[in-house]
Amino acid sequence: MSSVVCVIGSSNTDMVIKGNKLPAPGETVIGGTFLMNPGGKGANQAVAAARLANGASATTVTFVANVGNDIFGRQALQQFEREGIQTDFVTTDADEPSGVALIGVDSQGENCIMVASGANARLGQAQVAQALAVEMDANATVILLQLETPIPTVEYAIRQSHERGMRVVLNPAPAQLLDSSVLACLHVITPNETEAELLTGVRVTDETTAQQAAQRLHEAGVPNVVITLGARGAYLSTPSGASLIAAPPVTALDTTAAGDCFNGALAVAIAEGRHLPEAVAFACKAASISVTRMGAQASLPHRHEVDALPL
Ligand code: ADP
Repeated sequence: MSSVVCVIGSSNTDMVIKGNKLPAPGETVIGGTFLMNPGGKGANQAVAAARLANGASATTVTFVANVGNDIFGRQALQQFEREGIQTDFVTTDADEPSGVALIGVDSQGENCIMVASGANARLGQAQVAQALAVEMDANATVILLQLETPIPTVEYAIRQSHERGMRVVLNPAPAQLLDSSVLACLHVITPNETEAELLTGVRVTDETTAQQAAQRLHEAGVPNVVITLGARGAYLSTPSGASLIAAPPVTALDTTAAGDCFNGALAVAIAEGRHLPEAVAFACKAASISVTRMGAQASLPHRHEVDALPL
């Protein structure tokens, strides 16, 4: 049986206006350019995984999400299908609109974001239960989650997946502490520096502080910790040792969705049976390509591009 990456998470449409300045409360700013992009951490990570699973490996990527019965939801579904993502468990909500993020960006690159979660806020346990009920080889299945959908659903998915013997990767974004009985069901947690600080209280600035933050997460019950460190790569801490895995040096153009690319890639590599140090190195390579390109999903690399990089 082939391996499976099952991403459970959000799907949004990002509406971006790039202008000279961000409006103050009550102010209207005229001028700027408008862009509309598919987004949401869940969708970005599912697309990253699908592009990286294509090619040599026989990994299927399934997405469990909830969209609205509107043009944005239909466009998102079409996009997932074009990417080769299995969409049997992408449901269309009868009442709530699709998730939307309104993003303002000024000339300095500073942004201001408002998100209306819409249908994402109604992703429920029943949908997760249906997806997990499909016969899967637990050893070859990786469940990948973030925290943009209801926390009770996320916690349910983590517990159920763990009970079935599947490995669970949690990207704790946006950061929020989960119960330690849930954390103990994870295979790996993947905060960035900011999220690691919010979760542990340790300000992560280097390898030493990364290890301190990782230690706190181990104490909270997580067996394996990966803290992503931007251009420096990622710090991996496991029961058998810890190491900094360097990111390939690149000229970064836009780091949007670097973390999403990293997580999608990590899940694929784990599903293919790679050990964590190798899986993290693969994820660093994939994410380093994504930062050399503009956009979120538009920047996500395909498998042949990652395989073409030196080890
Ligand atoms: P997030 O996007 O969630 O803030 P990071 O900034 O830590 O997360 O980036 C995630 C991963 O993307 C890093 O671990 C690294 O592998 C890669 N990455 C990010 N920025 C760069 C960069 N400037 N050069 C090379 N790789 C990068």
